Amino acid sequence: MLIKNITLIDENYDVIKDTNIVIEGKKISYIGKEIPENYNGYIYDGRNKVATTGFINTHCHVPMTLLRGYGEGLPLDRWLGEKIWPFESFLTDEDCYYGSLLGISEMFKSGVVSFNDMYFNLEGILKAVYETGIKANLSYGYADIEGRKDYFNGNAYKETKMLNEYIKNINTDRIRADVSIHAVYTSCEDSVKKISEYCNNTDMNMHIHLSETELEIKECKRRFGVTPVEYFLNCGTFKSNTIAAHCVYLEGDDFDILRENNVTVAHCPSSNLKLGSGIAPLKSMLEHDINVTIGTDGAASNNNLNMIEEINLAALLHKGVNKDPLFLSTKEVMKIASLNAAKAQGRNDCGAIKVGNRADIVIYDFDRPHMQPVHDVLANLIYSAQSDDICLTIIDGDIVYKDGIFTNIDMEKVCYNINRIKKEKLKMVTK
Ligand SMILES: [Zn+2]
Repeated sequence: MLIKNITLIDENYDVIKDTNIVIEGKKISYIGKEIPENYNGYIYDGRNKVATTGFINTHCHVPMTLLRGYGEGLPLDRWLGEKIWPFESFLTDEDCYYGSLLGISEMFKSGVVSFNDMYFNLEGILKAVYETGIKANLSYGYADIEGRKDYFNGNAYKETKMLNEYIKNINTDRIRADVSIHAVYTSCEDSVKKISEYCNNTDMNMHIHLSETELEIKECKRRFGVTPVEYFLNCGTFKSNTIAAHCVYLEGDDFDILRENNVTVAHCPSSNLKLGSGIAPLKSMLEHDINVTIGTDGAASNNNLNMIEEINLAALLHKGVNKDPLFLSTKEVMKIASLNAAKAQGRNDCGAIKVGNRADIVIYDFDRPHMQPVHDVLANLIYSAQSDDICLTIIDGDIVYKDGIFTNIDMEKVCYNINRIKKEKLKMVTK
């Protein structure tokens, strides 16, 4: 594939105008002003368009699209206990398959090429990930506050093992198996230590929720006498490459612990605002050199998986909170949404447009009223763009979304099944 006469954002976040990109197989093989002679592959006209590297959503529960808008207007504990958990208890692999297809379609439309997920019914999610062509680090969110279940005899271990075997059998590096501990408030110390040791021994990545609410911090201090960050450090969790979602409440040594242990933070501003959790101290995190990334969280607490909206919100929110219009430059925001996340996922040849890297490319149409004129390409991308401006999403050299059409997703079938599942589950929960 040859993308001709396009403006691109390169690996240093510099704007390169009127250039050409050649993709061979899964990789970018050429970037330059000269158009390769006698090129006989597919040619894409890049005039009035801008190419960036694909975005990576580092915290999601993708099948939760099925719960979008369900149980609104309740405080967090009642929302979870009375609505979300009962509904989730009836979900099957097939339900999660359709919920995942819906979520992945939203992500493609907003330029996401890879995501980190924490949920259950991994077989259904895996099927959707495999079929659609998206990259994903999948994990089973282990939760068992009373410590009644042995991790190695439960579903979390069984499904993680299944995932690893599947990946080995089909020999793919597009899908990765991570280990997940849901949170300090949904697990017991003994299990957390065992799971952390297992993760470290098997060299998988870890995915957790961390320091999301004030109540979580208070309860953790009451139970263990330490902050959630110190708790997971003491349990050995951070020996593995860890992505920690939220980190809204960090204090004292928490910042140094996260940096020293190379813990990546998945910043989820929409979810933190919508659930009334608070606003994460992004400026202090970056001052402490912590690897920060962006996540949408699940669609039940966002309520969409629109990465463009999340990037825009993160870019605005922290300028306002810090009363500093110079904080978080457009280049820095781009890096947070792509390269930092690729590093955290363990994908060293992703996260930037450069020769030799994977061809994970998103193309924006600038021929739109709100995208003109163009004084500053990056400013238009971060502050003006809507997800509808994305006209092409490429993953590992394959087009997965183009001009409203999904290559591998039958949207009519997905929407029909989503509404069928919704009706069926509502009957079950009200019985
Ligand atoms: Zn979450």
